[in-house]
Amino acid sequence: MTTEGDSKTSSDSPRSRQGWLAKCGIAIPILSVRGRHGSPQDPNRPVMTKADSPKKRKRVFSPSPSTRIPIPYTEPKTLDMAAVSTAIGATFDQALGDVKAIKKYCEKHAGLLKLENDQAWDREASFNSDPEEQHAASIIRAMREYERKIIFGNQASEAVPGKDTRDMGGQFLTNKDRIDHGSLLFQAARKVPKGALLHVHFNAELHPERLLVRARTIENMYIRSIRPLLTQNDLDETEMVFNVLDKDQVVQGVDIFSKDYSGNATNWKPPSPQQWEVWMPWTQFQKDFEKHFPGQYIDSQEQKIPEGSTSCSAPPEPGSQVPLWPAEKWLKSKMVLSEEEAYAFTQTVNGVWARFNQATRCFKGLLNYEDVYKWYIGEAIERMIEENVMYAELRPMLLDKSIPTNDGKGIVDNAAQMQLIIDGVREKQAFLEKDGKLNKFPFGLKIIYCTPRSIPKNLMQREMKHCIELKVQFPDLICGFDLVGAEDRPNHIGFYKDEFVAFQKTCKERKLDIPFLFHAGETLLDTGGSSDPKNSNLYDAVVLESKRIGHGFALMKHPLLVEKFKKTADSPGICIELCPISNELLHLCRNIKEHPFPELLAAGIPCTVNSDNPSLFSNSMSHEFYQIMVGAPTMSLYSWKQLARWSIDYSCLSKSQKAQGHKILDREWKEFCASIVKDYGRMMTGDEIDPEKTKGIYPDLKCQS
Ligand SMILES: [Zn+2]
Repeated sequence: MTTEGDSKTSSDSPRSRQGWLAKCGIAIPILSVRGRHGSPQDPNRPVMTKADSPKKRKRVFSPSPSTRIPIPYTEPKTLDMAAVSTAIGATFDQALGDVKAIKKYCEKHAGLLKLENDQAWDREASFNSDPEEQHAASIIRAMREYERKIIFGNQASEAVPGKDTRDMGGQFLTNKDRIDHGSLLFQAARKVPKGALLHVHFNAELHPERLLVRARTIENMYIRSIRPLLTQNDLDETEMVFNVLDKDQVVQGVDIFSKDYSGNATNWKPPSPQQWEVWMPWTQFQKDFEKHFPGQYIDSQEQKIPEGSTSCSAPPEPGSQVPLWPAEKWLKSKMVLSEEEAYAFTQTVNGVWARFNQATRCFKGLLNYEDVYKWYIGEAIERMIEENVMYAELRPMLLDKSIPTNDGKGIVDNAAQMQLIIDGVREKQAFLEKDGKLNKFPFGLKIIYCTPRSIPKNLMQREMKHCIELKVQFPDLICGFDLVGAEDRPNHIGFYKDEFVAFQKTCKERKLDIPFLFHAGETLLDTGGSSDPKNSNLYDAVVLESKRIGHGFALMKHPLLVEKFKKTADSPGICIELCPISNELLHLCRNIKEHPFPELLAAGIPCTVNSDNPSLFSNSMSHEFYQIMVGAPTMSLYSWKQLARWSIDYSCLSKSQKAQGHKILDREWKEFCASIVKDYGRMMTGDEIDPEKTKGIYPDLKCQS
């Protein structure tokens, strides 16, 4: 970037300008640098810049011969500048207060606003809004602006902010504690009826604490490392993986804390001769961990929630406050992306993805065995109900064709896994029905078949055939097909074009509906893992008629494709499953304010809000809704409502289920607005929060530390 001073050429210099003006018969005095300075008391006085320095001035006033343009000299006519200035001043003063002109300006301004408002993406959500909903909308807006200043403290000022000041909408993990304990807007976001959750990875819905505690009782749960654990450095650097195994096959007496431990990144895979020599029983590992690393990773989490207080006593997210044992606490740090890992100065896109993949591998074995599978479905549904999500489409990775039975001796194949999911849903729904709460989760779950984008074509063909077979077996469960993995790595979707076209043809012939729901545009490079922009997955997603896409972060780079995504009278468009917190933590943007969701929405593209990988990102659907609200000042209560509505419209539910979903959503929305007015309305004076009235409603500031 060049500075104003740097860009000055010889013809811009005061002296040459004077010569040029002189040609036009105007003479202006050259002000010295000193003369240009205002009074020292004047805060707006010009400060001497580099360009003003004597050295620089010399250069500016003495253009090099090569750039100097000869100006023919004519005798300047001298003007009385005082008279000119008086005349200009008089004309200007006379022009002030031109009521007609101001009125015209205001009309044009209002016209623009009205036009934009008439075309606003969320306008339908505000049609027929009743006074209570309007009141709730004004409370939500006022709370956001109050919290921006008071709870976060980011007020425009020349004073250097104190250490507790934060930017509302700044880095999510940095702000999370403040959001969770200081923000009533977040408490409101928790209550929002959110409709459907359309983008969440199967193994990443529950907090790791829950899975770790559950694993305590599994006798044949084993763990391996890619190096012996002898020092703190080993703890920091290693990667750990769980698995349920047949104890008759595992070699006894394996000790990960011995220097002779043989585990590495590859020798656990069959047909490695060491495959049974690298696993240590998890129960034994826990005991030995405390002996080898005494006093470390002690969980001080037994925070008692103060009784009777307001926001500080907001119930913690389920499972998030279970006290852990030291080895579990250490393992948790391997599963959850930390603030430092996400935001460190030297972190890279590939680095954070590698860390993310490592965390995913660590989770996998804790979840993928028969006993926990059905339990997990019930717990995941419970969490969704607490988040006011009424339906979800989960994305399991089904490349592995089986999970172990409880004893590790047998296998549960993909079809049996699907049956476990159906059984888990039915069981949960039976409980809900008994309590008269079936409307909280009336449609159960659907499954989007996922496979990695990195596999060879022959394996992809196997995967596609397998997906179609599962659809035949479980027509109401399997609802889509997707590729997963970092998009900056091979392969792009088009690499498998032959396979995808065959997939579509087979589905058509068999009258099966398996829409593509691709991850696409989750990248800054947008070259589909190559160096060629033509390989952007967004083109393929459009050609292959994706029903929705995951992320769509890069879409605004493609104005033509934007048109295809738009919802119009003739087309439902292509819905984008927004995952803003995921995008921030995986280095697509620094914070929510830099996320392109307002542009995507303003362009008329239907979007939904999603949590992607809550267990790894420490987020939830409520956090995502909160982030959307603070990410752009144009967001409102009606924006929340429109996003929830679209989540039903663009789901894979049937037409009648969607109609029923909307009915439930409308009813819950009314209740939500009433609760906002009831809980927070008394803080309002006019359209603003009155600080005098916040006592006893907003938490004490000490809760925010
Ligand atoms: Zn995803």
